[in-house]
Amino acid sequence: MKMYPKTRALLWLRCLISGEKCIACGEMNTRGESLLCPECEDELKKAHLLICNECSAFARDCLCPSPIMRENRVEFLIKYAFYDAQKSDEALNRIIRRLKRIPDRLTFAYFAAVLSKTLIELSRVRGFEAENTVVTYIPRSKRMILRDGYDQARLFAKAVGQRMEYPTLPLLVRLKHGKQQKYLRIDERIENVKGMFAPSRKYSVSGKNVIIVDDLVTTGATVSEAARVLYDEGAKEIICLCIAKSELKHNKNSDDPFID
Ligand SMILES: [Zn+2]
Ligand SMILES: [Zn+2]
Repeated sequence: MKMYPKTRALLWLRCLISGEKCIACGEMNTRGESLLCPECEDELKKAHLLICNECSAFARDCLCPSPIMRENRVEFLIKYAFYDAQKSDEALNRIIRRLKRIPDRLTFAYFAAVLSKTLIELSRVRGFEAENTVVTYIPRSKRMILRDGYDQARLFAKAVGQRMEYPTLPLLVRLKHGKQQKYLRIDERIENVKGMFAPSRKYSVSGKNVIIVDDLVTTGATVSEAARVLYDEGAKEIICLCIAKSELKHNKNSDDPFID
């Protein structure tokens, strides 16, 4: 994968500080410019090549949104892979868990680079250009930012914006924390996210195409609510990009706190 000089410099700096460790398993990784050991890279590539039930394309080529997203005029969801929260020891799950704890710009840059291939193609088809397109993200609540120390969706959005040379702007203000989505059924999720966001008063979205970035998408209720707010403000077309799309498996005993 081609790396920007800045990314290369960051990688070098990190090797200097913490040694070269695979971002999925934490084992020492002696392969120079890769973030992953060979085993985890293979595992991740397999996740990237899982087949979508709906369109039969590989995850990397699938653009299927969830039904709620479709209802809210978000017709395209770009994802790196499909994600099963129950399979907690898979490379993708380990990486996602790690990203909740460590604001690793290199990992976000890695996913942004891979996903930008699909995004460039879709941008061409939909007429998204730097002049008419903005990258934004689903803002975390203050409580989550305090807990994790940072907003991972914001960092990921910045990596996507940088890669695409689109501006990245905070178009949404989070008004409430909401209940944790993982304990909710789909109808409860839709109710839970109502009124969660207000449009930013600082930036106008009128007439702009928007790429909403988030790390994980499950039902798409949160993204749909965000899209509804942005369309009300005059957004032209909204697409969504995430690292992983997971199916909703209602499990009260799940200890995976990362489904949103
Ligand atoms: Zn590994
Ligand atoms: Zn699909």
